[in-house]
Amino acid sequence: MKIINFAKYSSIKIGPICKIKVLNEIQKENETFTIIGGANNLLVSNNPPKLAKLSKKFDYIKEEGNTICIGGATPAGKVLTYCKKHNIKGFELLQKLPGVMGGIIKMNAGLKEHEIFNNLISIKTINGYTKKEYINFGYRQTDIKNIIYEGIFKKEKEFDKNLFKYFENLRKNQPSLPSAGSCFKNPKNDYAGRLLQKCNLKGYKIGDVGFSDKHANFLVNHGKGTFKDAMSLITLAQKKVYEKFGINLELEIIVV
Ligand SMILES: Cc1cc2nc3c(=O)[nH]c(=O)nc-3n(C[C@H](O)[C@H](O)[C@H](O)COP(=O)(O)OP(=O)(O)OC[C@H]3O[C@@H](n4cnc5c(N)ncnc54)[C@H](O)[C@@H]3O)c2cc1C
Repeated sequence: MKIINFAKYSSIKIGPICKIKVLNEIQKENETFTIIGGANNLLVSNNPPKLAKLSKKFDYIKEEGNTICIGGATPAGKVLTYCKKHNIKGFELLQKLPGVMGGIIKMNAGLKEHEIFNNLISIKTINGYTKKEYINFGYRQTDIKNIIYEGIFKKEKEFDKNLFKYFENLRKNQPSLPSAGSCFKNPKNDYAGRLLQKCNLKGYKIGDVGFSDKHANFLVNHGKGTFKDAMSLITLAQKKVYEKFGINLELEIIVV
């Protein structure tokens, strides 16, 4: 067990102090936990379900033949540094994308059409290895229900410096205040940020939680933001966008 204060641990700096189970090995049976990674995409309520996280034992990178096996607790930055050093391609998108490999795979995280599943071969869960072909995945989502202990990826040369630079430029507009990344998924053929801006929500605040004035789709914490403020703002935005455009904005942030 470990005590985690989500007001410090989560990237949006909101949430309660909770007891978390730390998993040192692959569970023998599927206990009902909500697994967390680096909490960079989470909004944790004051009454969350039982939570667990992978221990440092799952923080590793191993090369095996033409593949690279990455533990579910391995931070994105560590993977990126490794791939730069060993001239491996396919992980450039991890630049300034906060999280650990389990959370990144579960969310199929990425930027535009570049996403972690592009390079994935299979995942390791309590049921052994599951090939990507047997997983339903799409834009910022997968149907993975079990804990991801490891991702197995293609190992290909060469690290793409131009792509890396491209991601670096895209990130320049990112707010520096604590946030949980994009709040809503982009609806088909549109941008959540554009819709929010048209509803005058760019920079709009409830309490200390607001939509960033740099990037309307980033929910940011101006200091003492609470879960209640965040949920009120999310509900308001969904209502306004629906009334104006008839579009249901779907949350990208995971509420637990
Ligand atoms: C400043 C900033 C910028 C960001 N930019 C981007 C971006 O460009 N693109 C993008 O896609 N995202 C972005 N994000 C969101 C975030 O980085 C990603 O969603 C990332 O995948 C979250 O990883 P995590 O380890 O923090 O997961 P968490 O936030 O802890 O969890 C996310 C989800 O994954 C599940 N999960 C966690 N670990 C596991 C596991 N081992 N097995 C199964 N399920 C698991 C959780 O239950 C939850 O449903 C950004 C966030 C911030 C704060």
